[in-house]
Amino acid sequence: MHPLDFVLGFMSTDMGIDLGTANTLVCIPGHGIVLSEPSVVAVRPGTNKVLLNGNAVGNVAKAMLEKAPGSISVIRPLKNGVIADFDITEAMLKYFITKVHKRKWGVRPRILIAIPSGITAVEKRAVVNSAERAGARQVYLISEPKAAAIGVGLPVGEPVASMVVDIGGGTTEVAVISLGDIFTHESVRIAGDELDDTIIQYIRKRYSLDIGHPTAERVKIEIGSAYALDEELSTEIRGRDAVSGLPRSQKITSEEIREALKEPFDKIVIAVRNTLERTAPELASDLISNGLVLVGGGALIRGIDRLLVEETGLPVRVAEEPLTAVARGTGYLLEHLDLYKSVLQDEDIRY
Ligand code: ADP
Ligand code: MG
Repeated sequence: MHPLDFVLGFMSTDMGIDLGTANTLVCIPGHGIVLSEPSVVAVRPGTNKVLLNGNAVGNVAKAMLEKAPGSISVIRPLKNGVIADFDITEAMLKYFITKVHKRKWGVRPRILIAIPSGITAVEKRAVVNSAERAGARQVYLISEPKAAAIGVGLPVGEPVASMVVDIGGGTTEVAVISLGDIFTHESVRIAGDELDDTIIQYIRKRYSLDIGHPTAERVKIEIGSAYALDEELSTEIRGRDAVSGLPRSQKITSEEIREALKEPFDKIVIAVRNTLERTAPELASDLISNGLVLVGGGALIRGIDRLLVEETGLPVRVAEEPLTAVARGTGYLLEHLDLYKSVLQDEDIRY
């Protein structure tokens, strides 16, 4: 038996989940992040039957992206920050919950799930029902930016503005929080996926080379930047020549990728500025000293903080471990549930 199972069975039965558009993370109070896998599922086309005896979820499924034959559908059920397929989202959630919680001695966990702020009441209900069917004793929901703000230790309960910018896979969420609730908020569908798509289009146009999303994502992570680098970078990519149809490789630089990504970065900047414009003056003035905190995988793009400093005039901080901020926030909340009950969502979705 794994030592963790032993401890889990006895101690904590609570579980915090960051149900992200790109990655799902599970945080157990007192143990930290126990699972972090892509929000991807592989099924038989047109069915909800998860392949590999129900195990084609997460890392296993992501490895199949853009490599699957017609007999396999590889799906990202939350790709655009909305739930595209309820049954597949449920299968995924169930798989992750069961993987972490082995239902030792029949202890059923309380589960707190951070969800994209754009999802509808019907979608929220579906998430709650899925978690219940996966064995939850009680389900709570919280919107991502709130969980992120708590995860990075911002004083969300105080009458002071805290600002988070969460650049995820499908969406960028910008929020100003005060007294436990979101004061102004904006969600745009420009984030990591859009950066990847933009790289694909650029490479096709500039080099007549077709590349897939996994390659584009690698380029973004290896050499992507939002602001001039002290030392510019380069990498080699491989794809299929759009004219000859043959495989070929090509060297590309960080300067050209930065130029290509200017448009999506501008849109993220606009979302931040719009949110600031709608923030009450007293809260806006708090931000001059408190600044904003960047979380989500997109916070790791080189120079994104410098770009935002330049464009907003505010201090900008990249959270430590930005990919786990939301999940850590859910773990912290569960540990202090009574203290934080007021920041959880409305009565109708609090179970
Ligand atoms: P979500 O919360 O929507 O699931 P995440 O916060 O997990 O999203 O971030 C996933 C996104 O971050 C993906 O688009 C991924 O390519 C991107 N990402 C991860 N690491 C890096 C990095 N080092 N540099 C740039 N982008 C990154
Ligand atoms: Mg996220």
